Amino acid sequence: MKRREFLKKTGISAAAVASATIAAPTVWAKEKTYQWKMVTTWPPNLPILQTGAERFAKRVEIATNGRIKIHVFAAGELVPALEVFDAVSSGTVEVGSGAGYYWAGKVPAAQWFSAVPFGFNPQGINSWFYSGGGLELWEETYAPFNLVPRPQGNTGVQMGGWFRKQMNTIDDFKGLKMRIPGLGGKVVAKAGGTVVLLPGGEIFTSLERGVIDATEWVGPLHDLRMGFYQAAKYYYYPGWHEPSTCLEVIFNKKVYDDLPADLKTILDAIAMETNLWSLSEFEASNGAALQELITKHKVELVRFPEELLNKLRVMAEEVLEEEANKDAMSRKVHEAYKTFKKQVGIWGTVADKAYFDLIADKYSLKA
Ligand code: CA
Repeated sequence: MKRREFLKKTGISAAAVASATIAAPTVWAKEKTYQWKMVTTWPPNLPILQTGAERFAKRVEIATNGRIKIHVFAAGELVPALEVFDAVSSGTVEVGSGAGYYWAGKVPAAQWFSAVPFGFNPQGINSWFYSGGGLELWEETYAPFNLVPRPQGNTGVQMGGWFRKQMNTIDDFKGLKMRIPGLGGKVVAKAGGTVVLLPGGEIFTSLERGVIDATEWVGPLHDLRMGFYQAAKYYYYPGWHEPSTCLEVIFNKKVYDDLPADLKTILDAIAMETNLWSLSEFEASNGAALQELITKHKVELVRFPEELLNKLRVMAEEVLEEEANKDAMSRKVHEAYKTFKKQVGIWGTVADKAYFDLIADKYSLKA
C-alpha cells in the first residue's frame, strides 16, 4: 500500500506521522556513547597497518551510528610503540593495535598469536583463531593483563629479507649482523648471527652503511617503500620466520566487558572484516611491487637453499621448545598450536599444496 493511500484509509494526518518520526531519535539519544583513544605500534601513515587501524576506527563509528568514536594515535603520538600493551592494560587508553610478538618479554605466549617460524600460513592461523580454539587461548593468555584481543590483520607470507651477501649455507649466518625481531631473531641467533634491534627509521641507513649485513621488514610493498634495494643486492625468500604475521586489536577488558552485546558484536565483526581486508590488501599489492623491484630496480631475487631452510627449521623447533618452557601458558599454547598445525597441514598438503604446485608455473616471474 502506498503511503498516501495508507494515511487516507487510516485517517492519520501527515502532521501526526511527522511528529512520531521526530519523536523517535529522542529514544536513541538516551543511549550511552563512548569516546575512546586507540594507540598503535605503527608509524603514521604506514600502509595497511596504521591505515588499517584508522579504517577500523572509522567503520566502528559508522556501524555504531556514532555510539563509539575512536581517536587513533600512531606510535609516539601519545605513547611509544612498545608501551601500547601497558597503556591499554592499565586503562590509560581503551584500545590498542599492534602485534603479539612485541610483548614477548612480558607475555612469552603472545608470540604464538603473531608469527611463528615455519608456522601457519594466513589460512591456517585464521582457521586456528576462528574455528580451532586459538582465539579462546589468546583471550585466556591476555585476560590476566586486563585485555581482550582480536585478530585485526595479516601480512601474508613475508619475504626472507635483504642481504648484502649471498646466503649459501647455514654457516653464512655466523657473525651475520641482522635486524630481525621475534622468534625468527632467536633462530638467527642460534645459527650464530648477531641480532640487532633497530627502530624502523634507522634500518635503511644502518644497512646502507654496513652497520648491519641484512634486514627483514615485511613484503615487497613495504620493502619497496623503505628503499632497501638501494642498500642490499639480494632479496631472499621465503619468509620462513614470519609466514603469516597476525596483527591485533586489543581492548581494555573492563571497557569491553561493560559494553552492551550489540556493540561487542559490532567490534568483533569489524575486527574480523579488517583482518580479511588487510590480508586482501597485501595480496593485491605485493605481486606488482615485486615486479617493480625486479624489473625497475634490478633486484636479485633469490630463494634460500633447501638445506639451509631445513637447518633453520630444526633450530626453530628448538627455539619454540625453549620458549614454551618459559611458563605454563606458553606450553599450553605451543601444544595446541602444534596439534592444530598438524591437522591443517595434512589437509593443506592434499588440497592447497597440490593445487598450487599445479598452477604455480603459470606465474613464474620474468625479469
Ligand atoms: Ca617482518
